[in-house]
Amino acid sequence: MTGKMGRFAFFEGAIRPYSEAKISIATHSFNYGTACFEGIRFYWNESKRKCVVLALREHFQRLFQSIKILKIELPYTIDQLCQITLELLRKEGYQEPGYIRPIAYKKDETIGVRLSGLGGEIAIFTLTFGSYYRNEEDVRAVISSIRRIDDCAIPARAKITGAYVNSALAKDEALATNFDEAIVLNSNGRVSEASAANLFLVRDGLLITPPVTENILEGITRKIVIMLAEKELGIKVLERPVDRSELFIAEEVFITGTACNIAAITFINGQPVGKGKIGPITKKLREIYCQLIKGGLEKYSYLITEV
Ligand code: PMP
Repeated sequence: MTGKMGRFAFFEGAIRPYSEAKISIATHSFNYGTACFEGIRFYWNESKRKCVVLALREHFQRLFQSIKILKIELPYTIDQLCQITLELLRKEGYQEPGYIRPIAYKKDETIGVRLSGLGGEIAIFTLTFGSYYRNEEDVRAVISSIRRIDDCAIPARAKITGAYVNSALAKDEALATNFDEAIVLNSNGRVSEASAANLFLVRDGLLITPPVTENILEGITRKIVIMLAEKELGIKVLERPVDRSELFIAEEVFITGTACNIAAITFINGQPVGKGKIGPITKKLREIYCQLIKGGLEKYSYLITEV
């Protein structure tokens, strides 16, 4: 992820210079991966001359779900964290798109693998951020040899730092073999998601996506896309297990995420998806989503927070 780091961070209860926000090498979460994070996007709205944040509350709601699983207790409410984030963005005064990274962690400096009896803390930092892929309309994917972590190993529905070794292994293998992205199967050999995005396919004009019980992150973009497909395009969305071979007969495949927005998968393992270029449903969804995220659709303004 490229981008310029912000000048400030929320760290140990206050907004401080970014350079002063540092943890010890003995911090529990650094040693054992016991932290939970979020990735939130903000966009520059030219007509309002303001930045707008997408699904701010929804992301903190998911963070609270993740920290519940990891037993991280924070002395803040979701409302307070939304306000702190907006304050941080106002202080930065960005006039370009960017990314917000809240990270809740086990702060104790101690040795010992456990979850209980450890203090919790949260840090928030921001950076400028443009496009995630070379071309969001032409992403070439490979089916990874790395399997998705199972709910009984590390729950994928929680955004746990330690679990991202799984994503890193998959993404790295894809990049090392000259693909843009990895499609990861779960331990049952069914499709779960991409390295950091949820996956949809189009078959017979219907949208299909793996359900939340297939070891996926419960994506916020996924939820928005399901709503847009049904409400704006009148397309039925089926949440059901997806076989590996369905990837090769789908008319369209696309992935969704805060970082990548809606990105078209045009080739899988070197085979063209449909005609090997972005399909009509993916294109339409991208157009609507693009309007929504910049605050251009009144109907969905509840998902947008002005800075
Ligand atoms: N799956 C994984 C593993 C991810 O890291 C992400 C990015 N947060 C997603 C899916 C997409 O989720 P969201 O739409 O909430 O960004």
